[in-house]
Amino acid sequence: MGRRRKKYKKVIKKIRKVPKIFQCPNCGSRTLTIKFEKLNIQGYKKAVITCGTCGLYAEMQVPELYEPVDVYAKFVDLFEEGEIEVQFKKHEEERGEVIGEST
Ligand SMILES: [Zn+2]
Repeated sequence: MGRRRKKYKKVIKKIRKVPKIFQCPNCGSRTLTIKFEKLNIQGYKKAVITCGTCGLYAEMQVPELYEPVDVYAKFVDLFEEGEIEVQFKKHEEERGEVIGEST
């Protein structure tokens, strides 16, 4: 009769999977990966952003608490505003130019 009791909602802790591959703002492929490297600055780390398709490469200094998603969000913002320096590295390693090869 009458009122329904509010059902007790079970709180299930979901372990959110943190995506590690993102969509590249440059070429649109889902091949953008973010890796972290240690920095000498306390509380910060270096995020290295690379795209396996177009060869985009960028580095960012981010707070140590940042996860790849946070870096990605920030990176996309900066990229769209043209506020971050990006390079394009192709798979082949840079070779020293050989000029005037003589036989
Ligand atoms: Zn790309």
